[in-house]
Amino acid sequence: MPLLGCIADDFTGATDLASQLVSIGMRTVQTIGVPDEGLADELKDVDAVVVALKSRTIPAEEAIEQSLAALECLQARGCEQFYFKYCSTFDSTSEGNIGPVTDALMDALDVPFTVACPALPANRRTVYNGYLFAGGVLLNESGMQDHPLTPMTDANLVRVMGSQTRHRVGLVDLDGVRQGSEAVRQRFDALQAEGVGVAILDAIEQRDLETLGEACRDMTLVTAGSGLALGLHARWANELTGDSAAELPATPGREAILSGSCSRATLAQIEHAQAHYPHYRLDALALAEDYQGRIDEALTLAREHLDASPVLIYASASPDNVKKAQQTLGVQEAGEIVERALGEVAATLVSELGVRRLLVAGGESSGAVVSALNVKGLQIGPSIDPGVPWIVTLGSPERLALALKSGNFGAEDFMTKAWESMP
Ligand code: ADP
Repeated sequence: MPLLGCIADDFTGATDLASQLVSIGMRTVQTIGVPDEGLADELKDVDAVVVALKSRTIPAEEAIEQSLAALECLQARGCEQFYFKYCSTFDSTSEGNIGPVTDALMDALDVPFTVACPALPANRRTVYNGYLFAGGVLLNESGMQDHPLTPMTDANLVRVMGSQTRHRVGLVDLDGVRQGSEAVRQRFDALQAEGVGVAILDAIEQRDLETLGEACRDMTLVTAGSGLALGLHARWANELTGDSAAELPATPGREAILSGSCSRATLAQIEHAQAHYPHYRLDALALAEDYQGRIDEALTLAREHLDASPVLIYASASPDNVKKAQQTLGVQEAGEIVERALGEVAATLVSELGVRRLLVAGGESSGAVVSALNVKGLQIGPSIDPGVPWIVTLGSPERLALALKSGNFGAEDFMTKAWESMP
């Protein structure tokens, strides 16, 4: 039975957490949405389940409803501890959803006190005196103040969380953390006695997260970015089987790369991969003119070369190119036509052309591909580069190995070296 049940407010964040859990030796399965009975068997023999929701920016009522459904499912599977995972930049709208979902989970689990810990020092997300820093500057100067969906204009998490939750919000500052886990536990008790329901946790280095993880080991509910997971290891260490958590079943088959990411790192990776593999560019404007014709061309190239080599099919383009497509088609429409095309190509590569190993670049693009492939669950395996593990699909007839890379992740040779660490 799984020990730890996690509820993540977006897909790539869920994979990030799942990957951290694998790195501390927990066999981890990620489900896309609240799992149905079809995945019952796959959820039995693991240490942690991460339910990936898409609840970050939806109305708070819906986020609560989905999160409670996930909780109920994780409780029914026997999980003992629950982890509400959000972004390490505390991405939320002025209405939530971090606060409202935390409140609802606390009510459902009947816990009077929990923590909020977005710190992830490895990615330079640190919290000091309750202020969140990203890349060494205050959150509201880090670029996050201009985020299209979740602009973060205040770095003071006591204030931000205070405006979202009906609980009183307190702080365990760095001095307190540095006194060790027992002192932190006492601080939790003292805060609770003062009527605090949610404590923001300072952490600027990995060792702080370890102290905090140890201090939180007996909490029924924690809320955090992916960083606190590393510190929670101690609680479970004795119960883990010692089997390699990252081991995945083999997935023999053909190999392909799809990309809809226009991020700088992806563009460099594509340039590198073009020198090694047959490639086809799905142009957004050309798709708008003759959608089926372009899809057929991409699949023809795949058909000709897949026996001998991975193929690369990409919509990724330079900023100028993207702008041109967006001006002609509209921002939304340009994105949608590309995502639809990538999903359709992925589905045909798998159903007709024997592809079983697929790299996908781009967060939204990965979402489109996973949805077109009707994937319900994922087992997390070894990392190719930090934050990008190989994963194997669960609960569908063909077993696929996928690597879903969000835009700026991965080294320049990501697309050629990924195959070496394949299951
Ligand atoms: P990243 O992780 O790099 O942000 P995403 O896949 O999340 O990548 O987002 C990239 C977006 O850009 C997607 O919606 C995709 O459909 C869109 N897109 C990709 N190529 C083009 C293009 N040539 N023109 C316009 N939009 C594009």
